[in-house]
Amino acid sequence: AKKVRPAELRLQAPQSARDLIQDECRSLVLSNQQLKRLMAAMEKSMEEGLATSTKKVAVKMLPTYVDSVPNGTERGDFLALDLGGTNFRVLHIRLDGTPQAEMRGKIFRVPESIMRGSGEALFDHIADCMAKFMEENGLRKDVKLPLGFTFSFPCAQQGLTKGKLISWTKGFKASGVEGSDVVTLLREACHRRKDIDIDVVALLNDTVGTLMACAFQENTCQIGVIVGTGTNACYMERMDRIPKLAGYVDEHDHTPEEMIINTEWGAFGDDGTMHFCRTKWDDQVDRESINPGQQLYEKMISGMYMGEVVRVILEDLARKNLLFCGNFEAISKAHCFPTKFVSEIDQDLIDSEQDDANFQKTYQILEDIGIETVSSSDCANVAYVCSLVSTRAAHLTAAGIAMLLNRMNKRMVTVGVDGSVYRFHPTYPKLLDEKIDELIVGDIEYQLMLSEDGSGRGAALVAAVATRIKAEKLA
Ligand code: BGC
Ligand code: MG
Repeated sequence: AKKVRPAELRLQAPQSARDLIQDECRSLVLSNQQLKRLMAAMEKSMEEGLATSTKKVAVKMLPTYVDSVPNGTERGDFLALDLGGTNFRVLHIRLDGTPQAEMRGKIFRVPESIMRGSGEALFDHIADCMAKFMEENGLRKDVKLPLGFTFSFPCAQQGLTKGKLISWTKGFKASGVEGSDVVTLLREACHRRKDIDIDVVALLNDTVGTLMACAFQENTCQIGVIVGTGTNACYMERMDRIPKLAGYVDEHDHTPEEMIINTEWGAFGDDGTMHFCRTKWDDQVDRESINPGQQLYEKMISGMYMGEVVRVILEDLARKNLLFCGNFEAISKAHCFPTKFVSEIDQDLIDSEQDDANFQKTYQILEDIGIETVSSSDCANVAYVCSLVSTRAAHLTAAGIAMLLNRMNKRMVTVGVDGSVYRFHPTYPKLLDEKIDELIVGDIEYQLMLSEDGSGRGAALVAAVATRIKAEKLA
């Protein structure tokens, strides 16, 4: 038979563009066999991380020095700072022993110039925002409230109130912070402005806040997961399985039975172990990012990257004349396709399947991007690509969670989850849940639970637990 080139084929039979696109995109579909291979590789990486804190490993498995969850009696007034997603927040939280903490807060933008400027300017900005918040809310600046600092980047902690930033992620790149203790940098910034002082009682990752906020309501919560701008998980690990903490005693000469480990699973694959399920498009997104070679698992999953993965695929397909009549200019603009579009188009796909609403929203989005030659089959094909990429993200995350559940091997574990992808993508939570169910083994049960505002409420809870335990031990 005569070999037909894609362009000709499209003219003859437009519906078969889908067949060609399906062929092109085959590598985006991960079988359970591949996911199980991924789980084994991830557990191996985690073992390496638990073994040593000196050698360079991909998955860092960072001790958090949080070894107890809230018992529901936590009370008091706390400040919380939350840095690490799209926004920076300052919160004042009053815990009264009920899940409904009283909370007021303010969101501040972190301009890109500050994210990528000097570390000093970044922490000055944080201190400014904090002072402004205290003034506006009538909080006395000379009374030091205990403060929980949610800093959602990999930190090598030396205790609950000390931690050196290992490396920035998620588009941050402020100079002079990597390798420094971020609590000291914050305190110094407060001292520079002279009118505020702080009492940091806990430095924590957002996953830890998520676990704690969920555990306050549901005492089987032992895993915290974020799928937002970035992705990460923490879980309760047995001390006897953390060789790098052998011999650890806390300041009261006590060795806990377990400790929450911040896995930093976003960096899984940075040593090449994910090669068997990555695509050329993942490589491209990584290469063109601000931190090439880092956070490879995160770049296949989280909100900062999912839209961009879709975009490079669409560009590739348009260049091959399989989309938009070969018009690839508009879709070639980096970052013109945020993850929000993936959520909206996946919703459009559901609606179109249900009542034939023929992809109005998708059409609108593609037109707004500036693509002038959008057909209705293009819309269906773009929606198809979106669903492949978001499904893959859900399945990759499911592999990570199932791996942790299998490893912990407890009867019932609640997984606290938060983040914009989990909250706002129409099918992600269901896809995640269904795939975890397929990947767990043995006699274990689990449930996923949306954890309300772990980075805020969770920070106050970690601060409160620390304060409560200190008081109990002194008494
Ligand atoms: C960071 C983690 C964080 C996650 C979710 C990742 O980029 O390295 O520390 O928990 O994003 O915010
Ligand atoms: Mg957050």
